Amino acid sequence: MTPGPWVPLSGPAHRIALEVLLDGPLSRAELARRVDLSAGSLTRLTKPLLDAGLLVEVDEEAPARVGRPSQPLDVVPSAHHFVGVKLTGDTAHAVRTSLRAEVVAAAERPLTDHDPAAVADVVADVVAELSGGSPVTAVGVSLGGHVAGRGNVVRAPFLRWHDVPLGDLVQARTSISTVVANDVTALTEATHWFGSGRGARTFALLTVGAGVGFGLVAHGRLVTNDDASLGLVGHHPLDPAGPPCFLGHRGCATAMLAIGSITAQVSVAHARPVGYDEVLDLAEQGDPAARRVVDDAGRALGRLVAVAANFTMPDRVVLGGEGVRLATVAHDALLDGLHADRDPLATDPPLTIESPAFTEWARGAAVIAIQTFVLGA
Ligand SMILES: [Zn+2]
Repeated sequence: MTPGPWVPLSGPAHRIALEVLLDGPLSRAELARRVDLSAGSLTRLTKPLLDAGLLVEVDEEAPARVGRPSQPLDVVPSAHHFVGVKLTGDTAHAVRTSLRAEVVAAAERPLTDHDPAAVADVVADVVAELSGGSPVTAVGVSLGGHVAGRGNVVRAPFLRWHDVPLGDLVQARTSISTVVANDVTALTEATHWFGSGRGARTFALLTVGAGVGFGLVAHGRLVTNDDASLGLVGHHPLDPAGPPCFLGHRGCATAMLAIGSITAQVSVAHARPVGYDEVLDLAEQGDPAARRVVDDAGRALGRLVAVAANFTMPDRVVLGGEGVRLATVAHDALLDGLHADRDPLATDPPLTIESPAFTEWARGAAVIAIQTFVLGA
């Protein structure tokens, strides 16, 4: 049976379905407690969801107990598939995921032409490859830039775009519902729904990679405004003795933490081009120039964690992005930087270091598509 659509579910039925999607399988007793309903009301509300195939009863793993067995409720993650595409200046990275954002396939394409129609062609092509003849429910596209209205790219410096209706361009080629989001926003939502932010009422996400990003979920909701996708922490001052960024700020977050700034400093020291992973390898091996640059960056990242923790009081700080291996290689320096800017009585926020895999960004884009499907536009 093909499950029915999530929208137009509303009220308690929608809350029930969402609880099961995010935390299932759940027993009926646990579900009734979470949505504050009587057992009778829960039975009445879940029946149409079961009839529609949106929820299913699963066999309990525990051995049979005395009395009538209660079958927990779950969703079928493979009932719907989504494609998430993250655009950089030179590549479209894509994944296909289940309804629970489990990655089941990945692909990428070079972006040789930044013309919006050409980029939309590439996105449609990679969506077609990942759908592999079976239907895709929705597509999410993310990129570093300012996005308005879930479809229009107002500004994307990496692609030199202004006012591009990317959602419409992709949807016209694929005939699949498409949403567009800022990449850090998308990764924050993925962390919130299906990642290490699960269960935290308030958490901060900091990303290091081509740039520096910050996302915040407070009291279970993404904190955002019209300026959120401008990358506002990118030029936060961190080290007055650091190198300048492209805007001339000495030791700002971009100057201290962006991959390009770190590799440039070590390349100058070694008088040859040195890639990011090699910089981190050299630092681990004790190369003096790499160790100094990496520790300075780690200390700066610790200070940025302190800023986030001081102002937002999160249950957890999550570190992600393709450059996040820095947080492991320079972990001691990171803790030094964190403690330098915290009250001595303050407890360290629990820190999670995510995978640096680039597919995490594409998975974030898929989660935006999943959220639009289950919550409505
Ligand atoms: Zn700057």
